[in-house]
Amino acid sequence: MSGAVRHPVAKYWHSEDGRVRCLLCPNRCLIAPGKTGRCLGRRNVEGRLIAENYGEVVSWAIDPVEKKPLYHFYPGEEIFSVATYGCNLLCPFCQNWEISQCRAPTRYIPPEELVKMVQDAGLRLVSYTYTEPLIWFEYVLDCGRLMHEAGIRNVLVTNGMVEPEPLEEILPVIDAMNIDLKSIREEFYRDYVQGFLPAVLNTIRQAKVRCHIELTTLLIPGRNDSEAELEALTDFVAGLGRDTVLHFSRYFPRHKAREPVTPEATLIRAAEIAKRKLDYVYLGNVHLGPEFRDTFCPGCGTVLVDRSGYQGRVVNVEAGRCRVCHRQVELIL
Ligand code: SF4
Repeated sequence: MSGAVRHPVAKYWHSEDGRVRCLLCPNRCLIAPGKTGRCLGRRNVEGRLIAENYGEVVSWAIDPVEKKPLYHFYPGEEIFSVATYGCNLLCPFCQNWEISQCRAPTRYIPPEELVKMVQDAGLRLVSYTYTEPLIWFEYVLDCGRLMHEAGIRNVLVTNGMVEPEPLEEILPVIDAMNIDLKSIREEFYRDYVQGFLPAVLNTIRQAKVRCHIELTTLLIPGRNDSEAELEALTDFVAGLGRDTVLHFSRYFPRHKAREPVTPEATLIRAAEIAKRKLDYVYLGNVHLGPEFRDTFCPGCGTVLVDRSGYQGRVVNVEAGRCRVCHRQVELIL
């Protein structure tokens, strides 16, 4: 296959002063001939923006869906996970920096072949994950359509840094998203990870009414774990509905970050604050009691999903309702 076909012209850009301006995410990179944008995936080739990451797969694996994390979307099932290289943020604490911050080696996998890989694995869920899937826009869109035709559900595990128009285009093929809400403070996004909080909040609001979403906040000591910030973050999430699922995740020093590991007490405190206004709050990357990992019926407290590590088991649910109080469960099964 020729390079031109293998890597199509990208969507969402225009020419500007002999360069190209990418309009996919709020970075709006102005890209000189021969160069890539900040995410590394899109290159100015002779005055046209090429989706150079199209079909370029860094890694794939089969994970429990709980590992994404998604706790209310087909709990207990396995999900095919696939990633490209690159990211549009520069998080010093990135857990996957070896593939997100450089042009890691890839294998070209056309969309039709990826669908077959998921089918051969006997799975009905696929996630675009590990790095930032929204900068893989054209490929995820093409794969997403084919996956739907094959009865496979698409999941994005994303930082939410995308413009509203491309998000609107891709949402019809997306069934669920885990969106990072790294902080509720603009300074955190601007100064620490080189991003834009308003764009992330817009993505969350826009996606919430179109597909299943769960949110994840990695708690980093001294960066985003103050009482005031946790209250403000909870208020935003609760504003989407008290059924919105929120995960607090434990941070470990990686890449350039030198802050110490998140204390368990900080995670527990965050959960206590969030649970005042939210029905589903979970703690990840940490081994604590079932109250921080199982799903309970908000009506009567009965366990609905029993979790051990990343394995989920649906219990006490009959015909989509809690077996004890008959409240409709907020789970996609
Ligand atoms: S998608 Fe990539 S090239 Fe486009 S604006 Fe964002 S970081 Fe820049």
